[in-house]
Amino acid sequence: MLDKRKFYINGQWVLPDKPNDFEVINPCNEQPCAVISLGSKKDTDDAVKACKVAFETWKETTKKDRLNYLEKLLSVYKKRFREMAEAISLEMGAPIDWATDVQTASGQSHLEDFILRLKEFNFDEQFDKKSNNHIYYEPIGVCGLITPWNWPINQIALKVIPALATGCTMVLKPSEIAPISGMLFTEMIDEVGFPKGVFNLVNGDGVGVGTNISSHPDIDMVSFTGSTRAGKLISKNAAETIKRVCLELGGKGGNIVFADSYKNAVRDGIRNVMSNSGQSCDAPTRMLVEKSIYQRAVDEAIDEANKINVDQASKKGDHIGPVISKVQYDKIINLIKSGISEGATLAAGGPELPDGLNKGYFIKPTIFTDVTNDMRIAKEEIFGPVLSIIPFENEDEAVKIVNDTSYGLGNYLQTEDKEKAHRVAKKLRSGCVYINGKAADSGTPFGGYRQSGNGREGGVWGLEEYLEVKTITGWK
Ligand code: NAD
Repeated sequence: MLDKRKFYINGQWVLPDKPNDFEVINPCNEQPCAVISLGSKKDTDDAVKACKVAFETWKETTKKDRLNYLEKLLSVYKKRFREMAEAISLEMGAPIDWATDVQTASGQSHLEDFILRLKEFNFDEQFDKKSNNHIYYEPIGVCGLITPWNWPINQIALKVIPALATGCTMVLKPSEIAPISGMLFTEMIDEVGFPKGVFNLVNGDGVGVGTNISSHPDIDMVSFTGSTRAGKLISKNAAETIKRVCLELGGKGGNIVFADSYKNAVRDGIRNVMSNSGQSCDAPTRMLVEKSIYQRAVDEAIDEANKINVDQASKKGDHIGPVISKVQYDKIINLIKSGISEGATLAAGGPELPDGLNKGYFIKPTIFTDVTNDMRIAKEEIFGPVLSIIPFENEDEAVKIVNDTSYGLGNYLQTEDKEKAHRVAKKLRSGCVYINGKAADSGTPFGGYRQSGNGREGGVWGLEEYLEVKTITGWK
């Protein structure tokens, strides 16, 4: 079992103020694979103190200084890439190829893109040619960064890299359920030799370190990715100190499959939902199918879901692994049962363990058909390999159903008709709309509308989240 009980504060690996061991469970075999510490208020305070001191000099560094550090970090990340993939695979049960080619690769791609954006970013600009006013961007200060377990290094990179790039200092609290990748990332930061106090890591849970961070008077900004439930609590706790709160929360994406969609649209939609064992915030978990192709789409969806293998994380190949924890497993199974009891048709999968697996939090790719948008499986974020198929009559009805949710993160649509695609994309209330399965490019903003959050991560938008904007008059 890995011993990861130390925190990283002020450039040193230190034991917590008071021992408070917490076991990290390998979801493939339900056995502990590492032990970490859950921090206290004193540990958080120590890290924030280090941030405050370091901010005074780190904010004065030049863009070139910070680019040098980030370029070194990129080369260390590449050198330890394999270790990162193994850490993610172990802590969240992600199949090793997926953990390598998708999860770990996402961290590298964010690093590369932020380096590029930082090179191009102007921290100083004249307001307009005739004016004597000047606009100046400066780092917001000490940041508290709280991340989830489902895309662990992706989320860490989307926060830590822009915070470093803009001259902020920070305390990172990764998810206590999957903290190993965050600790390895911290080793990389240490190897690069960032000035002490710029980056600090304190492990902990939401009620403890998470709450200490959101309510801390010396933290200027909290960037949080996780559930809408925790996002609300963080906003309330942060209100007293009026800190900036950037929230990246849950989703319940719709995927409109029009009758004129490309050949593999349904099959691609199934693969998309089931990937990462359904644990993605922007997964298209409600597939809306035009009535004229409904039966064909259902047949294809069932066929594709049944082709997806569920297996151990250590096995190579494109299967899916378990879900992260017993808590998530129980929640998903309960939602599958609610779908059955609310009258949806269970067309593939179901609540039993997949064949050949009798330990671990494995769930069969599950499809419900004839779902109505008022059922729990259509309304709640399930966060497992479960898809609801909902028929629709026409474009207006499809848009109405997709938008009939409290979320607004990623929506999808499939049609060969370009004008219809543009028209519908504009009507969908979400931060991202994916047409015909095309991926978002590196450097585009990612974030949600409504209860999916208020932040935008990635690219220039991701840098701006960590900046204050100052108007200075009489500059010329
Ligand atoms: P979670 O909200 O339970 O936990 C996320 C993080 O917040 C963890 O580090 C946890 O310890 C901490 N936390 C929990 N309660 C807290 C509190 N009261 N105060 C401060 N911190 C607290 O979420 P999770 O289960 O780890 O992650 C899954 C959720 O994350 C899903 O809802 C998913 O949609 C969402 N997510 C969103 C995005 C996005 O970009 N919008 C990306 C990935 C995941």
